[in-house]
Amino acid sequence: MRVNESENLAKSESIGEIPLACCDEPAAVEFFERQIWQGKPLCPHCQSTNVYKMVDAKTGQRNKRYLWRCHDCKEQFTVRIGTVLEESRIPLRHWAYAFWRAATSKKGVSAMEIKRQTQLSYPSALFLLHRIRFAMTPEPETAPKMTGTVECDETYVGGKPRPGTGVHKRGRGTSKTPVLGIVQRDGNIHRRVVADVSAATLKSAIRECVDNQARIVTDENLAYRGLGKEFAGGHQTVNHSNREYARGDVWTNTAESSFALIKRGLTGIYHAVSKEHLHRYLGEFDFRWNTRRLNDGERTSLAIQGASGKRLIMQP
Ligand SMILES: [Zn+2]
Repeated sequence: MRVNESENLAKSESIGEIPLACCDEPAAVEFFERQIWQGKPLCPHCQSTNVYKMVDAKTGQRNKRYLWRCHDCKEQFTVRIGTVLEESRIPLRHWAYAFWRAATSKKGVSAMEIKRQTQLSYPSALFLLHRIRFAMTPEPETAPKMTGTVECDETYVGGKPRPGTGVHKRGRGTSKTPVLGIVQRDGNIHRRVVADVSAATLKSAIRECVDNQARIVTDENLAYRGLGKEFAGGHQTVNHSNREYARGDVWTNTAESSFALIKRGLTGIYHAVSKEHLHRYLGEFDFRWNTRRLNDGERTSLAIQGASGKRLIMQP
């Protein structure tokens, strides 16, 4: 999936349809079929579009399992095949609800909330949300490179409280997980878990995501030193240790405030997020940021389109 608002504006789904899809299974199935196939039902086995909806011979109603059949390869399939929905039998109306809430709640939605509203078990709600996060995360090779002025900053997320105090340690040298944020001013953001905050690690991530014509802005962290030679727009730093927060348009506030939103979201909604899952939560937060100019229906639709072509095999 490519999250690029101008090129890939999701076909505007009327937001009014979504509540019906959240409580009525046939409506949910048709909603997902429209979103995932975009009007062109496709056989997942042979890619043929020569397919038809199966109907029950007695009632003339749609097949109870919502099956389709391919005229060419004769295989049967549903809209779930080849998507993040494939590995589950959870009704699609619950998927619709979870996609909608995850795409439209500013700080995300918790598995507890999904459990309460759908009556699913907590593990099932968690299962849904992990796959939705996966759907929201673009493939790294298709994400457009950032350009213009690009802010880079690192932060630490999570970690265990100091023994006995319940107080979270701050800053470097703790058990917290380092996260690098790269944000194009007025554009997209990408945040990722990094192994460490060495110059080599941070710079290689920046090279991967940022066009070499860009201008880089960071704080005075020495790890970023030398980026000016690699990027045509140069590298400017703001000196936080001297209490300097902005000099002209040299600031990293966009990246910093994006971290603040994540931290509030992770403590308020998700409580403890394990290190191994953190990248998925970052993908979810990035998705909402990068689609901030879309309306709620368009954003939900784009998230669902991202479910296509992805299957997530996860260990419990
Ligand atoms: Zn086929």
